[in-house]
Amino acid sequence: MVTKRLNVDNIGLEKASEILKNGGIVGIPTETVYGLAANAYNSDAITKIFKAKGRPQDNPLIVHIASIDTLYEIAKDIPKTALLCAEKFWPGPLTMVLKKTDKIPLAVSAGLSTVAVRMPKNKTARELILKSGLPLAAPSANTSGSPSPTTANHVINDLDGKIDAVLMGESCTVGVESTVITLAGEHPVLLRPGGVTLEQLKEVLPDITISDAVLNELKKSENAESPGMKYKHYAPKTETFLVEGENFPEFVNQKEDSVAVCFLEEENDIKINKIVYGSFKTPESLAQNLFEVLRKVDSMGAKTVYIHAPTKDGIGLAIYNRLIRAAAFKVIKL
Ligand code: AMP
Ligand code: MG
Repeated sequence: MVTKRLNVDNIGLEKASEILKNGGIVGIPTETVYGLAANAYNSDAITKIFKAKGRPQDNPLIVHIASIDTLYEIAKDIPKTALLCAEKFWPGPLTMVLKKTDKIPLAVSAGLSTVAVRMPKNKTARELILKSGLPLAAPSANTSGSPSPTTANHVINDLDGKIDAVLMGESCTVGVESTVITLAGEHPVLLRPGGVTLEQLKEVLPDITISDAVLNELKKSENAESPGMKYKHYAPKTETFLVEGENFPEFVNQKEDSVAVCFLEEENDIKINKIVYGSFKTPESLAQNLFEVLRKVDSMGAKTVYIHAPTKDGIGLAIYNRLIRAAAFKVIKL
């Protein structure tokens, strides 16, 4: 199949909307990462997403909507807390897991009785949802296991020839995937940290707890609250270690044949090959560059990469969650 490159203008949006209405799949920009979108009501279209990505069949998709009315079409028994969160964080990078209605096919929820829902802020994504008149199921538009895409070219690198089209939009502003919480159980649980921070969530959900899978490796026998958490994710092909603590420059300077991923502030003290991923004073910049940097690592020809971990507060928790998976849970504490 030839993957069409569509401009973000009226003609491009119209074409993307037609493809989606006809059961096709399209790479689209959102504020978090690029998504691979399909009509959430069309099981055949959903199957194409799983195939193009090589996504495990038991890993459910997030449904993207542009109005609260659609929330009532796809979710039921919606708790008051969900409406409070919607009011405070939508449109934006928060996904809520709620009980699903029969309108959502089991292909979307991977057989679960719940559905994950988000209202994106990105203008292109919103316009496409409104133009097509459809809720769009969309996981990240990468090959399963590889770093998530934050530019249209990342989508093309992974999926050219496997999907109908890509909307050639701007780079993603947040840079990491949405925060996922479940409100389908007795208490709210953070399943995946993201653009909306735990500190922000606590203002609306003071009793929210963090799923074990956020910072720990799940044992094979363990049942994942969020299936995505059990899979290998975000990994460069180069062997990757996450390094916590100070004296990072001193540590990596002894590592020949390696590349360091470091903060701007330590760049001048590092003598081996390095990639700067942002300033530790602006963790938003680390999030924005994270996946671009993970994609770049493999082009450096090193045997090993050492990445300096951020602190685990604010958006740092989301960055740490991605990095610990990129490193297959290999952490060095200095
Ligand atoms: P992705 O869109 O590729 O970033 O992945 C979506 C994430 O949301 C994965 O980690 C899924 O496991 C999670 N997710 C989607 N639907 C549900 C659901 N119904 N229950 C729990 N987690 C979900
Ligand atoms: Mg993904």
